[in-house]
Amino acid sequence: MVLHHLWRTDCSQYTINNRNIRAIEIAGGIPVMLPYLKGKEDINDLMNKLDGLYLTGGYDIDPTLFDEEPIPGLGTIIPERDRSEIAFVEKMIETNKPILGVCRGSQLLNIAVGGTMYQDIYSQLDTSNLLQHQQKAPFDHRSHFVNIKEDSLLYQLTGKEKVKVNSYHHQTNHRVPKDFQICATASDGIVEAFESTNHRFVLGLQWHPEGLIDYKDDPSLSIYQGFIKACID
Ligand code: MN
Repeated sequence: MVLHHLWRTDCSQYTINNRNIRAIEIAGGIPVMLPYLKGKEDINDLMNKLDGLYLTGGYDIDPTLFDEEPIPGLGTIIPERDRSEIAFVEKMIETNKPILGVCRGSQLLNIAVGGTMYQDIYSQLDTSNLLQHQQKAPFDHRSHFVNIKEDSLLYQLTGKEKVKVNSYHHQTNHRVPKDFQICATASDGIVEAFESTNHRFVLGLQWHPEGLIDYKDDPSLSIYQGFIKACID
């Protein structure tokens, strides 16, 4: 089995929230943290050794990667991280290995496969219609509802049409490319999850399930277990 993922906060150190490590471990996987790599061959060799790719949350995504100029509402970006993670995704998609992305990881995944996203929903959309997606509450508080499409991998994993999630984002996915579908939305229409209709397991979640796995009534652990199962199969 496998797993992987990584992130860093500045150009001198890698950091990762241990909730991610714990979630993969509890679900039965072996977490491996990955460095940013430049060489295409090195990236391919590394991906070949892994059973799946887990893309963690973090800072914003360089908008020039989806042909937009940076707007004032864009936050911190780490171009090297974007570049590496996109190359990781491309290789894993090519080899049909499982990918799970959370928060920033969901947007990165969508951009890597050719989708589009909002740099900052609060300056790009009518704010009077938007929910509070940057919750001012503890990380494990489930602040808003998400409606799940019945004909989807996410529904298979959760068994629920409606779940409550935590929410720490000001960016979101917008359109997803061919062979992908939006599988969950918030009541304001914001995309909260998307998935491939063409691969074994490629799923992006806008929330942070790694913060919710201790809830007995929450499907977050089932999502991680489904990911690890796909990695082992
Ligand atoms: Mn949200």
